[in-house]
Amino acid sequence: MKMSKKHTIHAFHEDDTEKLFKKLEIWDDFTSGKMKCLICDEVLTFENLGALVPYKNEVCGACSPLCIYEAQKLVSQSSNRTVKK
Ligand SMILES: [Zn+2]
Repeated sequence: MKMSKKHTIHAFHEDDTEKLFKKLEIWDDFTSGKMKCLICDEVLTFENLGALVPYKNEVCGACSPLCIYEAQKLVSQSSNRTVKK
């Protein structure tokens, strides 16, 4: 598992969560249980949130390391498609 595309997915620090999520306008969705993992559709919480994933002009989240890995692939595929249009 390569982690060479760190710039597409931001590491996650609990202290900055609220500030960051409010800035990204996903705080309300997150705290009301409306934010789901991009890959497995699990509702994201403070306990299981692994990473934020920018996807299709929205900020999505991924839970487990496997989901983060899959999300990373998904994001790079979709951005490749956009670039080659
Ligand atoms: Zn997941």
